[in-house]
Amino acid sequence: MVVSFQMMGERGSCEASALSSQGAKSVSAATLFAPPPVGLRLAVIKGMIPAQGRTCGSCTFCCKVLGIGALEKPAGRWCAHCKPGRGCTIYEKRPGECADFACQWLVDPRFPEALRPDKVKVMVSGDQGGRIIAHCDPDNPAAWRSPAVFHTLKSVAANTWASAVTVLAVAGRRTWLIAPAAEYDLGVVPEGGQVEMEKFPDGTARVGQRGAS
Ligand code: SF4
Ligand code: SF4
Repeated sequence: MVVSFQMMGERGSCEASALSSQGAKSVSAATLFAPPPVGLRLAVIKGMIPAQGRTCGSCTFCCKVLGIGALEKPAGRWCAHCKPGRGCTIYEKRPGECADFACQWLVDPRFPEALRPDKVKVMVSGDQGGRIIAHCDPDNPAAWRSPAVFHTLKSVAANTWASAVTVLAVAGRRTWLIAPAAEYDLGVVPEGGQVEMEKFPDGTARVGQRGAS
């Protein structure tokens, strides 16, 4: 199955659709996901509780890498209300999208302790579109390739390859697809750009941009 997706904008959404079905070589359940480099915080996980012993502590990494729609804060820049390494100066009045957000490290005890976002410079979160996204600081776009992070992302990709989940790394609008057997540099995908992806059972994929819509 070949699927396509449209890159979301700062306030947009991502849509994926099947373009064609071409038989046995594809992973039938393959689903595509668009990495939202300049997207809103999509991982609304209200009600989830931190994994035992984990707190944000001095980490403020998501206050840089994620876009905050209510504040018109773009991804990849520090929030004006953040004291890096200390916390939010408007904590009681912070937007709901901040209050409702938690990264994977904070809530998932299966996620390695060593991958605290501010330590590894990568923050992993999921979203409603079936995407698992490793958000990197645009000042350190290759952070997702560090061995500990890379190993975890590869494991997730392998375990979800036959499903609708897709694993991405993003730094600004630069986007990579992480497949079990390879990594694919999608380049700088413009807002509204179209990306096609076809998954194969051997853990590889065919990907390509179709340009901005
Ligand atoms: S990146 Fe995770 S651990 Fe760090 S401040 Fe955000 S939610 Fe907390
Ligand atoms: S409002 Fe507070 S919690 Fe939200 S991004 Fe800014 S500093 Fe972080």
